[in-house]
Amino acid sequence: MALKVLIIGAGPTGLTAAIELARQGVIPEIVEKREEASALSRAVGIMPASLEKLRPSGVAADIENEAMTLTRVQVHRSERVLLNVDFRSLPHQPVPHMWGLPQNRTEALMEAALNRYGVSVRYGCAVKNVETDTGQATVCFDDGEVRAYDWVIGADGRHSVVRETLGINYPGIDLDGEWSIADVDVAGYDANLTSLWIQDRIDHRGSFYMILPIEPERVRIVSSTPDVLGTLPAPLDIRHVRRTGTFRISVRQAEVYKKGRVLLAGDAAHCHSPVGGRGMNLGIDDAAAAAKAIVSGTTESYSASRHELGKKILRETERARKMIMSTNVITRGLTRLAMFTVQRSQQLQKAASRRLASL
Ligand SMILES: Cc1cc2nc3c(=O)[nH]c(=O)nc-3n(C[C@H](O)[C@H](O)[C@H](O)COP(=O)(O)OP(=O)(O)OC[C@H]3O[C@@H](n4cnc5c(N)ncnc54)[C@H](O)[C@@H]3O)c2cc1C
Repeated sequence: MALKVLIIGAGPTGLTAAIELARQGVIPEIVEKREEASALSRAVGIMPASLEKLRPSGVAADIENEAMTLTRVQVHRSERVLLNVDFRSLPHQPVPHMWGLPQNRTEALMEAALNRYGVSVRYGCAVKNVETDTGQATVCFDDGEVRAYDWVIGADGRHSVVRETLGINYPGIDLDGEWSIADVDVAGYDANLTSLWIQDRIDHRGSFYMILPIEPERVRIVSSTPDVLGTLPAPLDIRHVRRTGTFRISVRQAEVYKKGRVLLAGDAAHCHSPVGGRGMNLGIDDAAAAAKAIVSGTTESYSASRHELGKKILRETERARKMIMSTNVITRGLTRLAMFTVQRSQQLQKAASRRLASL
C-alpha cells in the first residue's frame, strides 16, 4: 500500500521534501497556513550543495537561469579592503560559487516543479496539533479535521507547532538587539559581488553589513544594526528603497529531530544568525535527507545524523558571527591576518570556494 505522508509548511524545506518524495514515487500531501505563496525575500544565498540536491527535479537549472552568480567576495574593515577575491580568476575552472535569488523566487521555482509532479500546496490550512506513536502520526487541522499518516515532516519553521505539540525541546539563546535588512535598487554595483563590511561602532560593539545582488541593479543588505540604511558604511548609489525591516536572532536546536512517525526539518529543527547564509541551505539538505529516509526506510538514523550536522553548522556560524563582531584587539588582528593570508594564496582561495560548495 502507498505510504501516506504529510508535509507541514511550504517554505523552502517543506517544498524540497515534497519534491523529493514525489520524484522518488511517494506522492505526499503538503499544507501551508498562509493563504498564498510568500512574497518575503528572506534568504538570498543558495549554495552549490543545495543546487545538487535540487538538480534531479530540474529546480537547479531553473535557479541557474534566474539567479545572480556570486563569484566575487570583498571584505572591508573600517574603510580598508581586507580581502578582494574573484573565484573566476582561479585555476581549475569551474570553481564553486554561490547563487543570489530572493527566497520567494526560489520557493516559486520549487512550487512549479512540485506542480509538475502533480502535487499542489494546500494553502490556508493550518495544523493545530500532532500526536504520534510508533505506528502512525495523527494530525488535527484548524478546521477540526483529524487524519492519520504513516509519516509527517514538520517543516513549519522556527515557531513550529509540530515541535511544540510533540513536546520536543528547542534549547538555545535569543541574542540581544535587532538586526535589519533592506532591498534597494542601486546603480553601478557589480552584479557578481558579495561584499562584507565589518565596522567599529560608537557603542564599541562590532557591527556587520553584507551586500548581496538579488537581481540586476538590485541588492539585499543585511546588518547587525537596527538601522541598516542609516548606518551603512558602503558608498552605494541607492536609487530606490524597495523594502526595509528588522528581525531578531535566536540560536537554537531541537533536542531530537524524530519522534515516533514525525521528522523535523529546517528552521523547525534549528535556527541561527544569517552570517554565512546557511539557514535555508541546511533546511533544503534536511528535507532531501528526510525524503530519502522515508523512501528507503532508513528513518532510524535521521535524527542523530541531522542533529550532528546541524550542531556543527550552528557552531561554525556562531564562531563566525562572534569573530566578525568582536571588539577584542587580538581577535581583530587574527581576522586581518587570516584575510591577508587568503588574499595571497590561490590554494586557500580554492579551498574556501570548495568549502562553500559543501554545507
Ligand atoms: C533576514 C533574513 C535573511 C536570511 N538570509 C539567509 C540566506 O542568505 N541564506 C540562507 O540559507 N538562509 C537565510 N535566512 C534563513 C532562512 O530564511 C530560513 O532558514 C528558511 O526560511 C527556513 O526555511 P523553512 O522552510 O525551514 O521555514 P520557513 O521558511 O519559516 O517556512 C515554514 C512554513 O511553515 C508554515 N507554517 C507554520 N506553522 C504552520 C502550521 N501550523 N500549519 C501549516 N503551516 C505552517 C509557515 O507559514 C511557513 O510558510 C535568512 C533569514 C532571515 C530572517
